[in-house]
Amino acid sequence: MENCIFCQIIAGEIPSSKIYEDDQVLAFLDISQTTKGHTLVVPKTHARNTLEMTEEAASQLFSRIPKIARAVQSATQAKGMNIIANNEEIAGQTVFHTHIHLVPRFDENDGIAIHYTTHEPDFTALAELAKTISKEVI
Ligand code: 5GP
Ligand code: ZN
Repeated sequence: MENCIFCQIIAGEIPSSKIYEDDQVLAFLDISQTTKGHTLVVPKTHARNTLEMTEEAASQLFSRIPKIARAVQSATQAKGMNIIANNEEIAGQTVFHTHIHLVPRFDENDGIAIHYTTHEPDFTALAELAKTISKEVI
């Protein structure tokens, strides 16, 4: 897609530090290097984000994650890894071509903090919400 920075990386029009490539998927180092080894895994066919992918395209992309993540972990000696996809601006997406972040983790002070606020569970409301969502799965 025109003006898409990741399509331009895939096409070789913009340089990147590639770590894995096949017919469907490319993995390269994120320019920000949030932590050492921070990697992006992208589908070669443009899709705005995970919410717009077909099952087949998502299967192709996600199936490559474990082996690429293991390679990043073993090369960096990371103790763990956050695997993240931001979808739409409200969720922090800044580049609108699907990408999975692999963020190696080294220690508690490595600059990343992900917090999930917990609320008192209302089990009736949870059951209703689960029902509503499950009806939307098509
Ligand atoms: P998002 O915020 O959309 O989830 O993540 C986009 C990521 O793309 C950011 O972490 C940013 O550092 C990375 N990025 C943006 N432009 C480039 C680029 O030209 N090259 C590389 N390698 N990474 C980029
Ligand atoms: Zn693109």
